[in-house]
Amino acid sequence: DQQPVTVTVTGAAGQIGYALLFRIASGAMLGEDVPIRLRLLEVPAAVRAAEGTALELADCAFGPLVSVDVTDRPAEAFDGADVALLVGSRPRTAGMERSDLLEANAGIFGPQGRAINDHAASGVRVLVVGNPANTNALIAATSAPDVPRERFTAMTRLDHNRAVAQLAARLGCRASDVDGVSIWGNHSATQYPDVTHATAGGQPVPTLVEQDWLESEFIPRVARRGAEIIDVRGASSAASAASAAVDHVRDWVHGTPGRWTSAGVASDGSYGVPEGLVSSFPVRSEDGRFSIVQGLDIPAFSRARIDASVAELEAERDAVRGLGLL
Ligand code: NDP
Repeated sequence: DQQPVTVTVTGAAGQIGYALLFRIASGAMLGEDVPIRLRLLEVPAAVRAAEGTALELADCAFGPLVSVDVTDRPAEAFDGADVALLVGSRPRTAGMERSDLLEANAGIFGPQGRAINDHAASGVRVLVVGNPANTNALIAATSAPDVPRERFTAMTRLDHNRAVAQLAARLGCRASDVDGVSIWGNHSATQYPDVTHATAGGQPVPTLVEQDWLESEFIPRVARRGAEIIDVRGASSAASAASAAVDHVRDWVHGTPGRWTSAGVASDGSYGVPEGLVSSFPVRSEDGRFSIVQGLDIPAFSRARIDASVAELEAERDAVRGLGLL
């Protein structure tokens, strides 16, 4: 019999957590034949709400779900964790300076990184969802010197999925017919959704859509889709963010044969992105590892946009360093 896999979710009582936990427990992330132990981490004020979610998880009688534990202690939550989904973070509130936001999140992701370093399973895989996700992942990774950098990733899969969905709608094809889309840079409004190398039904996307549509509709729509959801739904995206987190971890563990996707990963200097920054790249997953798709031609239009988003990541890193937190 297969050993249970321990999956830790932080911010478990939040709205993404509520959409995410049921998908994980049903087997959508790791497979229906893989037993799962869930560990839910919350701040003390939200532990009881997380316990309520745990009751509902039990009531689903999911086949893969072995146990659910709720705690407000990182050391306990990450004990033996094979997969850690860091969803809880300090949201930006009115009047908050960017440095306040980075500092508050460093206060969350620093200790969580240390707890992962000290208590998680040796093969732990970490996905940071809580914003600012790329820099939070950098902080957590820096706080976990014994864990290889490549195990700390940030989620840009929702941006990737949004780009694929917009293309499929424009071209009247299915999302699964689209491949080769790349999200570059930061998970923020500066991100660059790139279709230069994308195909739809095997046809190059740049021959199927107008450059004008790409520049004036596609790129801004993908980058600002979060705001559009808030405007229409009256609340931020949750189920789509949870679904993207499931996709990210599933592809990381099970691979992306013949395709690629996007993820925030520690840069190795590829495409001129400074080494160590957690930046989104086109990636493949093979043998349980993400690798950056190499050798892509980067036209000037793309270069300028990638550089702008990477500059924002450098500014966030420098601000965190300036606060003495890195
Ligand atoms: P959500 O569950 O809606 O969001 C959680 C985080 O995901 C936010 O940082 C949010 O960023 C981010 N996020 C990333 N991508 C997306 C996306 N595409 N759409 C929407 N959100 C995205 O937040 P809630 O406030 O409902 O819940 C957060 C929970 O986390 C609370 O229960 C809180 O108690 C908990 N928490 C737990 C901590 C811990 O376990 N130690 C620490 C801090 C908080 P953005 O804010 O930019 O939308």
